[in-house]
Amino acid sequence: MIVESSRLLLVEDDLTLGKMVDDFLTGHGFRVRWESNGLRALGLIDSETFDLLILDIGLPGMDGIQICRSVRDRFAGPIIMLTARGDEIDEVVCLEVGADDYIAKPVRPRALLARLKVHLRRGDSQDLPTESSKLEIDGLIIDSTSRTVRQKTESGDENILSVTTAEFDLLLFLMQRAGEVVGRNEIYEQIQGIAYDGVDRSIDLRVSRLRKKLGDDPGSPKRIKSVRGVGYIFAVES
Ligand code: CA
Repeated sequence: MIVESSRLLLVEDDLTLGKMVDDFLTGHGFRVRWESNGLRALGLIDSETFDLLILDIGLPGMDGIQICRSVRDRFAGPIIMLTARGDEIDEVVCLEVGADDYIAKPVRPRALLARLKVHLRRGDSQDLPTESSKLEIDGLIIDSTSRTVRQKTESGDENILSVTTAEFDLLLFLMQRAGEVVGRNEIYEQIQGIAYDGVDRSIDLRVSRLRKKLGDDPGSPKRIKSVRGVGYIFAVES
């Protein structure tokens, strides 16, 4: 996939902003579908194929948070939310419902473009062939070629776990370093592609979503353990 020709769905009801972002991104080669109504956007996500979603929060029909929550388990690509500047509640909620990133309004098109490229390139690595693509730790199998995660059950079956692109990348990174404490800043730089600002909780929220999907008890996780003040470790049973 060439990042610049990716298919984007832009959901924004502010006509001036929507047109500006649509024109700007189209001018950079992206195939942009712009929709102003939340409910219609939901229909588009189910009927058409997109590589990335840009969702405003306040929308007629259905708000951006509801859209994100509703499609997150079936849309694996990056979801970027547009939030009001400095609204920390919106920012936290966005990440809790599984968005990959947020951009504060007023939207600076060049900043948006830079973030889009980071997220699209990350998903792009799935096209690269890799040697030894499968890794299995204590019944959890991650395959970097097919981008799948499977968990063995006690009866010997394998359940496929539905994870997003960002969750997959985080899990793969932690499993490749299993048994080793990995710093939050290192994870952040690897996954987000930018230096950690010491504040962003997106990695922590992604870990908690992953734990839920792995059936890991958040109170005393067996697989992804927190190391206070440092980061995380993917534990290996001894
Ligand atoms: Ca709006």
